[in-house]
Amino acid sequence: MIELPEAAVVAQQIDETLQGKRISRAVAGASPHKFAWYSGDPAAYNERLAGKTIGAASYAGCHIEFMADDMRLSISAPIRYHPEGARRPAKHQLLLEFDDGTAITSSAQMWGAFMCFPQGEPTGLVDWEQAQARPSPLTDAFDCGYFGTLFAEATPQVSAKAFLATEQRIPGLGNGVLQDILWTAGIHPRRKMSNLAEASVEGLYAAVREVLAAMVAQGGRDTEKDLFGEPGGYRTILSRYTVGTPCPSCGAILEKASYLGGSIYFCAGCQPL
Ligand SMILES: [Zn+2]
Repeated sequence: MIELPEAAVVAQQIDETLQGKRISRAVAGASPHKFAWYSGDPAAYNERLAGKTIGAASYAGCHIEFMADDMRLSISAPIRYHPEGARRPAKHQLLLEFDDGTAITSSAQMWGAFMCFPQGEPTGLVDWEQAQARPSPLTDAFDCGYFGTLFAEATPQVSAKAFLATEQRIPGLGNGVLQDILWTAGIHPRRKMSNLAEASVEGLYAAVREVLAAMVAQGGRDTEKDLFGEPGGYRTILSRYTVGTPCPSCGAILEKASYLGGSIYFCAGCQPL
C-alpha cells in the first residue's frame, strides 16, 4: 500500500505527465501476487483500457485515481513512469503502455489494489468507498468538529497508534506517516487515548493536518519514491533512516520497537508513555 502524501504527490504527477496519452496496451496480473486485488478478471483489463485516453487524476486516502475516458482506475500501490526505451521492471501487477512508447507499471508493496471499473458504477471495494466518503485531512472539511466525530465508545481503550492508523478512520493515514505525526504531537504510539488531556487531543488534530500537509508540499517522504522513482523531499524525523540518531528536539536517541503488526519509532524524551 501507499499512504496519503505519496498518493497526493503521484496523482499530481500523473496529471502533469500522463494526461492526454492514449493507452495502446494494458496488462494486469502478469506477476502473481498474494495480496493484489483487481476488479473483475485481470485478463479483461486490456479490453477495458486499450484505445482509451488518460484524463484527470486525483487521490482518495491511499488510492491514486485517474480516468481513462469512461474507465476509472484506482491504485493503492507505487506507480512508476518509464520514458520511451527505458528499462521496465520484469515483475509488475499492472502495466499500461502508451501510443508514444512511454509506459507506467505498478507493483504491490505488501498489498495493493489495482482497480479498473466503469465510472459511476458501484465498485464493491469497501476501503475505496470509505475513502471516497470521508473528508481528506488536507481539506477544510476535516475540521476540529469532524475530528471529534472519530471518537467512539471504544476509543479511550485504544492506543494512539490504533486510533490514528487502523480501521480506516482517516483513510490514507498508515503506519508510515503516523510516526512523525505522533512525534510532533508529543504522544507515544502506545499511549492510551484515555490518558490524553484535552490539549493533547487538540495537538494531535493539529499534528495530523500540519504533518500531512508538509509531507505533500515537499513531494512526499524521503523513505518513498514518486512517479519518477525519486525519493520525496520531506525528511522524516522518525523512520528507518533516523533510528539510533539523536532526536532533533531533545537529543535523546530515537528508538524502534514492534507494536500492533508493524514497527513504531519514537523519542522516549518527547513522547513519554
Ligand atoms: Zn525528543
